[in-house]
Amino acid sequence: MVNGHTHLFQTLFRGLADDKSLLDWLRDCIWPAAGEIDAETARAAATLGLIENLRSGASTVIDHQYVHADPDIDDAICQVAADLGIRFELARGWADRNYHPPLTESADTVLERVEPLRQTWHGSCDGRITIGLAPLIPWGCSDEAMVATAAAARSWGGHIHTHCAETEIEVEMNLKERGLRHVPWLDSLGVLGPDVQLAHSVWLDETEIQLIAERGASVVHCPVSNMYLASGIAPIRALLDHGVNVALATDGSGSNNRQDMFETCKTTALLQKVGRHDAMALQPEEVLAMACRGGAKLLTRADDLGAVQPSWKADLVVVDLASPFVAPVHRLPSALVYCATPRDVVHVLVDGRFIIRDRKLTTANEKAALADATAAAKKVLGRAGMPTR
Ligand SMILES: [Zn+2]
Repeated sequence: MVNGHTHLFQTLFRGLADDKSLLDWLRDCIWPAAGEIDAETARAAATLGLIENLRSGASTVIDHQYVHADPDIDDAICQVAADLGIRFELARGWADRNYHPPLTESADTVLERVEPLRQTWHGSCDGRITIGLAPLIPWGCSDEAMVATAAAARSWGGHIHTHCAETEIEVEMNLKERGLRHVPWLDSLGVLGPDVQLAHSVWLDETEIQLIAERGASVVHCPVSNMYLASGIAPIRALLDHGVNVALATDGSGSNNRQDMFETCKTTALLQKVGRHDAMALQPEEVLAMACRGGAKLLTRADDLGAVQPSWKADLVVVDLASPFVAPVHRLPSALVYCATPRDVVHVLVDGRFIIRDRKLTTANEKAALADATAAAKKVLGRAGMPTR
């Protein structure tokens, strides 16, 4: 499975600011704590976050990484992914206005800093690691910077990743300021296209769904986060019916609070059913297709990822179906979506290499990673003057 949208640094902050709406959650928790993260603590967060992803059935992760108070953070995270052996895209995040000042950068700074990162990492580890550019949110990004960074990403074949229409209030803010909802605004700048990854996309109208379909952009659905922050129910059934590619994701651990693709799959089905008062609204086969094939298309890798095929990349998760949580199995897609959990993951292979074998991580010391992340969380929260246990 592909976890198409997360923020690995938030591994340090799970449970810290539960029960808040998106904008309060950002202001009270994420901003003050994120500004204190450096390369060392980011490395600890990414290591634990990626181990959690692997154990939860994700062989690929896209990290929307927008914390750059220390400019060495991106490089440190890519090194973690390289060493762990996971398939990884660093969606290099940025905001150039209206945002928390330590997390704000000008477009020139973003373009200057992304260049060495791209040269070192894009396509490295036999294509396992890639770099995209990732405008954070419409209200944090100027039109000029959107155009400049989209052109830069396209110049090296990188993806453009952004939060889109996550909450109703953000769409209203864009309407007030720019006279356009999020999707037409992206299109008016020439940004919308098949290389665009739209995280959330909860508050879309019919015209926007059609526009996404016409331009061939992908939507990344984050159902647990959307429930956690009470953002709303994304129109996944309608998007699929219009032929839009939909991938699945956990979002960051600050708003989930886990990195569990099995939970994401189950919640995806349940949320469409309850939202539409229709038990047939989404089938487990469709959910698995989004988690695997949808993720491959999101990465524009539909020709060698996301299915088991001769000569394709062997990114595989082996699940124990004879476990007390899953057996007896009558229908495989149903067992995987509604029953299986991270406890049932036996092996994880990426590019043909065992990263987890017989439930044991082969590429890092998991105990040390847990201790490092716990110490890093304490350090960051201490610097931010936030209470810790
Ligand atoms: Zn997010």
